Amino acid sequence: MLLEVKSVSASYGAFQALFDVDLTIAQGETVAVMGANGAGKSTLFNVIAGGLAARNGAVSFHGKDQTGAPPEAITAAGVACVPEGRRLFSSLTVEENLLMGAHCGRPGDWTLDKVFGLFPILEERRRQAVTSLSGGQQQMVSIGRAMMANPDLLMCDELSLGLAPVVIKDIYAALAKVREAGMSTLIVEQSVTQALAAADRAYCLTEGRVVLQGAAADLSHEVVADAYFGKVH
Ligand code: ATP
Repeated sequence: MLLEVKSVSASYGAFQALFDVDLTIAQGETVAVMGANGAGKSTLFNVIAGGLAARNGAVSFHGKDQTGAPPEAITAAGVACVPEGRRLFSSLTVEENLLMGAHCGRPGDWTLDKVFGLFPILEERRRQAVTSLSGGQQQMVSIGRAMMANPDLLMCDELSLGLAPVVIKDIYAALAKVREAGMSTLIVEQSVTQALAAADRAYCLTEGRVVLQGAAADLSHEVVADAYFGKVH
């Protein structure tokens, strides 16, 4: 198992956002975490990424306990994130942003050239300020920066948020190429269509609990939509 999340609970002060969440990702697998607004998807993402401490439970990566490890240690262990809202360095160029991803020093074959091969528009814009790019292009920079860390697991939070359908299609087509190259991926998505199309397996969170999970091919939109609202078949 590449990633194992065991019985994780997390809180913001007195408010409990996750309850005994279990999740696994095998080598080479793409797993989606779906759920309505406020279901706890980003909270789970942040616990795995080391940005938020779990109150209970454990997170292990490559079989090694990483519970409570800081984000730098998680990145060094091989988990790279495309965070919600992208969080790019606004004073830097496209290329400088991409190079920031390589700072963890993990070896691997993801270089600037390979990222430019995935997103040719970024090569054309490499010397421009990242803020001059469209939202979709900025999302490409965020994915490219994560790939520059040469991760074993790529985690993406709400890739499609705020983007036009045609741009979302391009972004997911690029992600499919990354998967085909053997990358394990965790995608957090509100869009059920997008999540089920992109993933091997999916989990649905409702009010901080896993209410449904299974192979993406076995999950119908109807069953997932009901799970979003707490109805279990
Ligand atoms: P969204 O799609 O809106 O990002 P989500 O499924 O990612 O939703 P979370 O962001 O994980 O949900 O939020 C889970 C719950 O925790 C929500 O009820 C939210 O209001 C609450 N929450 C999230 N962040 C904080 C915070 N910093 N302080 C207090 N409560 C928070």
